[in-house]
Amino acid sequence: MTDLTFHQFMCRSDNYGLLLHDDKSGATAAIDAPDAAEIERQLDARGWKLTHILTTHHHGDHVEGNIALQKRYGCSITGPRGEASKIPGIDRKVAGGDRFIWEGREVTVLDCPGHTLGHVTYYMPSEEAVFAGDTLFSLGCGRVFEGTVEQMHQSVRQFGALPPATRLYCGHEYTQSNARFALAVEPGNIVLAQRAAEVDRLRAEGKMTCPSTISAELAANPFLRTGSPEIRKMLGMEDETDARVFAELRDRKNSFK
Ligand code: ZN
Ligand code: FE
Repeated sequence: MTDLTFHQFMCRSDNYGLLLHDDKSGATAAIDAPDAAEIERQLDARGWKLTHILTTHHHGDHVEGNIALQKRYGCSITGPRGEASKIPGIDRKVAGGDRFIWEGREVTVLDCPGHTLGHVTYYMPSEEAVFAGDTLFSLGCGRVFEGTVEQMHQSVRQFGALPPATRLYCGHEYTQSNARFALAVEPGNIVLAQRAAEVDRLRAEGKMTCPSTISAELAANPFLRTGSPEIRKMLGMEDETDARVFAELRDRKNSFK
């Protein structure tokens, strides 16, 4: 297996851009295309040519750059079959359970309905990396716009089943505000408190807080911790199902200030 370089950067206001560059073949994939101009700048600075875009979902801040980048590079665009009509330039449609090979590496597609109905996530076992789009964030999860909160719960749960060392790449730098909510519902979680302090330090230095890892999220992200006695007590939901606790957390987060 040849080396893969991961290059992550900020664009728009709080979106992550992410480029994967195969050092041997020269192939370069963008995970989503939030900002064509910034992605081109990052590619040019490294002398890379974009060959693929892997789209997680149809929102404008994830597909805005598709057509401009495809025009310049002729890159192929892979995206969710379930919302293919809303993905500009899509030429390969995928859905949960599909596997494909990118530059000799297996990519597994997970269906993640909730934020949007067709949202997919890409998992690369050989790189111990998952590209979660707007489904799972560090210390939080995406808002439920199109699906049901039950669907979102199932989508988020899938991440908890990935190998713990898997690096979590997500669509937005929301970690600091997510940390405030997480601490409000689980103030006694020492791992969370440490992560929140680290996040404050990183943000004060203008640094990114991701990628995270699945093990770090399992220890601190309330949306993966619906079984936590402290969270349940805080919500007055000691005897409720995980699904109901998740729904209550998502609801409270929506109005949390
Ligand atoms: Zn979105
Ligand atoms: Fe987004």
